[in-house]
Amino acid sequence: MDQTPGAWSAATALANVKAPMIDPFGRSVSYLRVSVTDRCDFRCTYCMSENMTFLPKKDLLTLEELDRLCSAFITKGVRRLRLTGGEPLVRKNIMHLIRGLSRHLGAGLDELTLTTNGSQLARHAEELAACGVKRINVSIDTLDPDKFRQITRWGDIERVMEGIRAAQAAGISIKLNAVALKDFNETEIPDLISFAHGEGMELTLIETMPMGEISEDRTDRYLPLSQVRRELENRFTLTDIPFRTGGPARYVEVKETGGRLGFITPLTHNFCESCNRVRLTCTGTLYMCLGHDDAADLRTALRASDDDGYLSAAIDEAISRKPKGHDFIIDRRQQRPAVSRHMSVTGG
Ligand code: SAM
Ligand code: SF4
Repeated sequence: MDQTPGAWSAATALANVKAPMIDPFGRSVSYLRVSVTDRCDFRCTYCMSENMTFLPKKDLLTLEELDRLCSAFITKGVRRLRLTGGEPLVRKNIMHLIRGLSRHLGAGLDELTLTTNGSQLARHAEELAACGVKRINVSIDTLDPDKFRQITRWGDIERVMEGIRAAQAAGISIKLNAVALKDFNETEIPDLISFAHGEGMELTLIETMPMGEISEDRTDRYLPLSQVRRELENRFTLTDIPFRTGGPARYVEVKETGGRLGFITPLTHNFCESCNRVRLTCTGTLYMCLGHDDAADLRTALRASDDDGYLSAAIDEAISRKPKGHDFIIDRRQQRPAVSRHMSVTGG
């Protein structure tokens, strides 16, 4: 990509015209997920290896740069912003960024939210609510303290539960995310449903995605959600409902609990046709698709000039490269991840 200021001039003028970002397949891009750090206080076995090498802190965008980038996307039509990671709440002074971004709520931005492992939630819940965060996703794959420690390698489930209670007390609604893992939590899923729905939370189940090298072989843990659903139907009455959040999840209502259950099935169901999102990393790299390695370097455009026109043109150029769909397959012979980066780089 030519990053010289001269190359941007025509595009800069265009970029000042506000219009929703439309990709080459006619999808409008209104949702930005931002991984604010690649670091995490857990090491979930399907997500990271135990000895992950994290980025040197100097490579990270500053909080001010992240604010400028997110604000540029909001000016260009992004209406929902989700902070993720790594673990977003372990980034130093993250509340400074969240407070700043909350100024866009009601002024272009409809929703500011985050996906968290919940470990630091108890101390931030009230301020998150005060910033206008109305709902968050909390990841929890098991309710058993020993198994929780095993899957996260050292996480403490009680701290997560405290975080959940604090968020609920602050008026934030919670969706739990659980990755369905063969020989780990498959028999526990009914309990997760009863727990979530009993506490007024939604639950979404996710299939493992082949992203980044980890210590174990993911194909051993891959559990198709079609199978999970069949087994759940022996116990619950599941009715498909048209509810959508603009994301890839498909929902059912569970008659016995009255709650909503989501399924995210990247490997067994192609969810790309309605994709409205792009993903930004903490170094300013924009991934137009979770399942592709192609990316755009927005940090260079950001730092090339204080004029947001350069940045706006670089964003447009990136959106023009958004691919039609992902290429996830689990290659059982090569046993290699389909995408080389870890989920913690782009945040899922
Ligand atoms: N640390 C936060 C958390 O765990 O919620 C946010 C980042 S985490 C990468 C976002 C979501 O991605 C979590 O729900 C996690 O379970 C999920 N995830 C991580 N690696 C995955 C993989 N290889 N396949 C499917 N989901 C994955
Ligand atoms: Fe950390 Fe979330 Fe990955 Fe677990 S899934 S290691 S909590 S980033």
